[in-house]
Amino acid sequence: MRSTEDYVSAAKRNLFVPAANMEKLGTETLPRLENSGGIYVYDEDGRRLMDGPAGMWCTQIGYQRKEMAEAIAAQAMALSYNSPWYTTNSPAIELAEKIAELTPGDLNRVFFTTGGSTAVDTALRFVEFYNNVLGRPAKKKIIVRKDGYHGSTSLTAACSGREGNWKNFDIANEKIEFISSPNPRLHPGLSGSELVEQLAGEFESKIADLGPENVAVFLAEPLLASGGVIIPPSGYHARFKEICDRHDIIYISDEVVTAFGRCGEWFASEKVFGVVPDIITFAKGVTSGYIPLGGLAISEKLVARISGKEAKGSFFGNGYTYSGHPVSCAAALTNIEIFERDGLLAHVREIGPYFQSSMQALAQLPLVADVRGNGLVVCIECLADKNAAGVTDLDKKIGARIDEIAFEQGLIVRPLGNMCVLSPPLVITKSEIDDMVAILKEAIVRTAREFE
Ligand code: PLP
Repeated sequence: MRSTEDYVSAAKRNLFVPAANMEKLGTETLPRLENSGGIYVYDEDGRRLMDGPAGMWCTQIGYQRKEMAEAIAAQAMALSYNSPWYTTNSPAIELAEKIAELTPGDLNRVFFTTGGSTAVDTALRFVEFYNNVLGRPAKKKIIVRKDGYHGSTSLTAACSGREGNWKNFDIANEKIEFISSPNPRLHPGLSGSELVEQLAGEFESKIADLGPENVAVFLAEPLLASGGVIIPPSGYHARFKEICDRHDIIYISDEVVTAFGRCGEWFASEKVFGVVPDIITFAKGVTSGYIPLGGLAISEKLVARISGKEAKGSFFGNGYTYSGHPVSCAAALTNIEIFERDGLLAHVREIGPYFQSSMQALAQLPLVADVRGNGLVVCIECLADKNAAGVTDLDKKIGARIDEIAFEQGLIVRPLGNMCVLSPPLVITKSEIDDMVAILKEAIVRTAREFE
């Protein structure tokens, strides 16, 4: 077995991880995880850590589910690969059928990708293709929100409204237009419905300025996850969909985080946020992170406009070597079976309010300016002056320090500037929530003392 030092030096020498701090490349490395079980992971020294962010919002059914390992192994032994260009496989067909059953409205045509970025990228390319086939080559603008996050391909990074994703990259953004983040905290004087109207007005003006004939897509997460779990005011999505419909603009709901139970539903768009979009993208929770998979479900109405006799000789020249990968699709089917058998959506609906109210109790502590969330996702926003609206460098240090202390105490917290984001595996119990809150409380109190 290789020693810890050996791993550390090999990682420093050769590993290039996502979102790497380039000043530290080659001199620092990340904690190395070796094992797992339930909602916990274990590091190289066997230390147990609660998985506060569910990996990257994805380990829904928790770790070490034997059925998942067996389903993956069985499919790998039966058929480990097929080319999606000229063959298909039973798990991909069954999964498409199952997802069509779970999506709202007529979103029944399912395309598989390798993850969330490729799902959103494909959704945007589908719309581009759609408008070209319909003979509307000018209808290309993509409207997105500040604080949104949609992935790491060239196009999806350009759609992400956080500058951290852009620095020192060349962003292909000539088609992309930003509107305001629907963050109620930025508009303290407005009621929810007043804010919806203000934001809808901004959206309408943007469309009018660009010309509706030039606007193809509105791309939106139901809640802005990586932007800090920003929850738009009630009625926001339905109002935006109505505007989209009036201008023949396609509404893409990016459910890479919210699908598969995070908010207590298979898909959050309709049942939690009151909108039936034209396209939904998903990834992460579809396999609970056991193996990569993403995809999108598209409205039959859209597909009908550019297929069959309407196709005009076109073919959809977009796809991946691993689209509909048999092993990934078999894992997703087993994952969904586990959700159904264990009543996981009902569990989230039951335990979500307890999770949210336990987190709300932290709002009394110093530094905590806001606690917001839905289902099993929450953001604790910290500010040096808890009543101030601005964000400073000092606040960023506060967030990082809270995360550091929580980690020492056995809880992984997703660091996001001045925010602590928690989105645990959906199988979390009440007593595990109590443990999580106790660690967070201590981390916040200790940080507050240090910054006094
Ligand atoms: N869309 C949303 C809303 C996301 O949160 C993410 C990742 O966090 C992505 C897309 C990109 O997904 P992936 O990292 O699987 O490519």
